[in-house]
Amino acid sequence: MSAAHLTSGLLFDERFLAHDAGVETSVQMREGSFELDPEPHPSDLAIIKRTWQFLERSGLLERMQRLHARPAHEEELLVYHTRSYLDGLRAYAAGGPRLGDWGEVDEDTSVSTGSLEAALWAAGGACRAVDAVMRGEVRNVFALLRPPGHHAERNRALGYCIFNNAVIAAEHARRTYGLERIMIIDWDVHHGNGTQDAFYADPGVLFLSLHQRNWYPRCSGELEQVGTGAGLGYTVNIPLPEGTGDRGYAAAFEQLVLPIGLHYRPQLILVSAGQDASWLDPLARMMMTRRGYRRLTELVIALADEVCQGRLVVLNEGGYSRAYVPYCVAAIVEALLGLDLGIVDLYAGAWELERSATIFTRATRRAVEQARRWHRQWWPL
Ligand SMILES: [Zn+2]
Repeated sequence: MSAAHLTSGLLFDERFLAHDAGVETSVQMREGSFELDPEPHPSDLAIIKRTWQFLERSGLLERMQRLHARPAHEEELLVYHTRSYLDGLRAYAAGGPRLGDWGEVDEDTSVSTGSLEAALWAAGGACRAVDAVMRGEVRNVFALLRPPGHHAERNRALGYCIFNNAVIAAEHARRTYGLERIMIIDWDVHHGNGTQDAFYADPGVLFLSLHQRNWYPRCSGELEQVGTGAGLGYTVNIPLPEGTGDRGYAAAFEQLVLPIGLHYRPQLILVSAGQDASWLDPLARMMMTRRGYRRLTELVIALADEVCQGRLVVLNEGGYSRAYVPYCVAAIVEALLGLDLGIVDLYAGAWELERSATIFTRATRRAVEQARRWHRQWWPL
């Protein structure tokens, strides 16, 4: 049945703001340190708050169905995370040690009682988003989640992530609706190491990641990491050079993501959508613009329409430009709705934006070609 008459869903919850990432004040030296006025942590809650305001005040929200999150059940978390990790996290959030037999919270990741609550609701929100699409309440969803999830491992909070929202959502989809093929497209600029780990030996979830090469986490997301056992070939890494930009990303989608998706024929598509490949992001160097994000979303929608009746769940991951992330998320949402509100890009007219949209560098061309040749071992490329 066609879902064309349905609108898009937008999931957000005020509880996501309870995750206070804190501030950075000290400058470390070989010996000692000194203090400056506080700078917000890169994943400051102002980013998602401004994004929510942008969606609300632009008029996008009123065109969508508002979806409400719920907390993840323990059984849903335990499909991936370990029991001892949950216990250790709770103890840590209440003042216990960062590291133990149970696992670890890495140095960069803030976990307080509020963070834990936010993370529970974000993971449950991802499941709710899946339900809304699978039950035909909406055509597709943007879930404005926080904290993000794709770096979180079984027993380790890593890279600002506490629970792996994408993994929990995919497992929920599989268990609740009996899906046999799910595709996760991870366009966050960093590699989704946790998601890769969860499905590394599993052909039932195709994990495909585009990310800045040699970036974060270290040695994660190399072309050669392709899955194992029955999952061989079902992990697809596409490392891209710095400066890839709108044109390079679109080429990678056209030459790799779409043909692989068409061949795999997933019954549901999840996107781990980090808007940190943008040209204003302080944590990466990829030069994407809001127009580029719109284009990628349109390509994924076309794929979903072709293979799974448009069923698409977009989960917010990273994105650290307070100024620009709201513009990029709104571009994704406009594409989901098939609308163009005529929002003028921040710094419209800057030559960097023009460059990103038009230049297909030799380095990018080479990287896309190399990925194509490599993944041809498993896919008709
Ligand atoms: Zn990221």
